[in-house]
Amino acid sequence: QAAHKERTKAPPAKVSPREKDHPPPPPAEVYEPPSSDRPNGATYTTGKLLGKGGFAICHDGVLADTREKYALKIVKSVMPQKKMEQKFQTELQIHSKMRHANIVQFHRAFTYQESTYIVLELCPNGSLMDMVKKRRFVTEPEVRFYTIQIAGAIKYMHLKGIIHRDLKMGNIFLDKDMNVKVGDFGLAALLMSGKDMTACRRTTLCGTPNYIAPEILEKGKGGHDHAVDIWSLGIIIFAMLTGRPPFQSTTQEEIYRKAREREYDWPSLDKTNNYISQEAKDLVALLLQSPEDRPDCDTIVQHPFFSSGWVPQEEEMTPSLRENSPD
Ligand code: ADP
Repeated sequence: QAAHKERTKAPPAKVSPREKDHPPPPPAEVYEPPSSDRPNGATYTTGKLLGKGGFAICHDGVLADTREKYALKIVKSVMPQKKMEQKFQTELQIHSKMRHANIVQFHRAFTYQESTYIVLELCPNGSLMDMVKKRRFVTEPEVRFYTIQIAGAIKYMHLKGIIHRDLKMGNIFLDKDMNVKVGDFGLAALLMSGKDMTACRRTTLCGTPNYIAPEILEKGKGGHDHAVDIWSLGIIIFAMLTGRPPFQSTTQEEIYRKAREREYDWPSLDKTNNYISQEAKDLVALLLQSPEDRPDCDTIVQHPFFSSGWVPQEEEMTPSLRENSPD
């Protein structure tokens, strides 16, 4: 089917993590060196391990002056693989420019004793992945609540010319009130808009235009690169409702084939023996169309799925999972 023919682009460079790529656990106190906005520097008391990523470890930390709690994402200052260093630089550059209620707030970054610390907003309830694993599924009202917030974050990123490219349940964190916070900008990319390119050509800041391919000039106007995030949102909604991703298989090739052919089945009932609404199924199908047909975030939140049932208020969401749980 023509609609299913999709330009397949090489996925972003894969970074394969190894245990020795992680930094050592942080000391009990970490000192941020003096800087222009903090002439006396700062001290953080480090706490428990929150999680490990490809090459980062994450601990909670308390800023001594204010007693405020943060998440400290820690990486080795000198990374063994060049690719990792690039991933981290992109992450810093892009994440530090984001400011939105549904994006993990970036506060600052500094180096102390061979490790680089990123001071982030603390998300004490883990990720959507942790929650779905614990609870096995998310109810439709909850899916409405989370999807509206994720769509808000995506709209903001896309307006700023940023494509996240790695949206998944494990990169969507939950704050103390169960609000969504999109994190991990390690694979994000900056799209140059047509306007930026025009400015570039005018000022010749970007060098000679003679070598620039026309599709680059089109990006942000007619380009559909940002539509990858809308696809991911479709997968996230399916996974929240059913507890599993739609295109599951033992091999990567088979997953890609199923995705290309949109080969997925809804379970007849969800985990509470309720029917999954037709509106939810329609929304997912809409998001998994060819890139040029995928709706933008404003259109998504207008979908009947959001008006066909209850949307909880923040105070009605299930309270804290990580803080109250024994593990
Ligand atoms: P990587 O970029 O290496 O994949 P992540 O950003 O995914 O690293 O972080 C690794 C783990 O640390 C996450 O899976 C999560 O458990 C924890 N984590 C990351 N950021 C936060 C945060 N802001 N608040 C709480 N935990 C976090």
